[in-house]
Amino acid sequence: MLKINNLHAKLEDEDKQILKGVSLEVPAGEVHAIMGPNGSGKSTTSYVLSGRDGYEVTDGSATLYGEDLLEMEPEERAAAGLFLAFQYPVEIPGVGNMTFLRTALNAQRKRRGEEELSAAEFLKLIREKGKALNIDADMLKRPVNVGFSGGEKKRNEILQMAVLEPKMCILDETDSGLDVDAMRLVADGVNALRAPDRAFLVITHYQRLLDHIRPDVVHIMSDGKIVKTGGPELALEVEQNGYADLLSEVA
Ligand code: ADP
Ligand code: MG
Ligand code: MG
Repeated sequence: MLKINNLHAKLEDEDKQILKGVSLEVPAGEVHAIMGPNGSGKSTTSYVLSGRDGYEVTDGSATLYGEDLLEMEPEERAAAGLFLAFQYPVEIPGVGNMTFLRTALNAQRKRRGEEELSAAEFLKLIREKGKALNIDADMLKRPVNVGFSGGEKKRNEILQMAVLEPKMCILDETDSGLDVDAMRLVADGVNALRAPDRAFLVITHYQRLLDHIRPDVVHIMSDGKIVKTGGPELALEVEQNGYADLLSEVA
């Protein structure tokens, strides 16, 4: 599904190379984790895949089902099935969650040549999805993310994923600030949305989240590259021995 090959990227207005040849493949139906020390380029990888401003790809490729992601506008990437839950979700004052999600969904449907959902149809859909995931529909009437607790932001992200039904979900989890309940919520959401035609790339600093989401594959990133790939036991190794041992072993 997702193929990243030798991806190099730098900051647009600085001569600082951040990604130095990231390669990985995530097949449909699988959950992969990227772990790695702070500053290794994990978030940058997700930003570059989403098409965020400020980064320049200098080499390599990234494709989704063979389609060149890097050539697409951010909205086209979303329509192609890419979803990114960001480390720090943006607040959008004045825009209701409901409106935001319906607009996002209809924009995608339109691009795919599908009919747009009416307000009533959308309400029905959102109620169903919310119910299945145990997410309070009242939250949706509030402006996007404004005044949301960490847990509510996470709940909102999961709901967005459920409604937009992306193929490739990338979650960039903050290194701190996620309490056990919020972590559980993300994990339950991912587990509930796992499907044979959907894949997840979960970026995380710590192993804790992976106690609840059992990844099929774990990649370790260091200094802008994937330096080791293995099974879930790799996450445990990191938890027990830290990154230093593992990285010196690789070196
Ligand atoms: P991680 O998510 O693994 O902690 P990041 O992708 O956030 O790592 O950062 C990788 C490196 O790139 C770090 O050294 C960071 O300081 C640098 N970096 C990323 N974005 C910027 C930016 N906008 N300006 C300056 N340095 C940046
Ligand atoms: Mg970081
Ligand atoms: Mg990060």
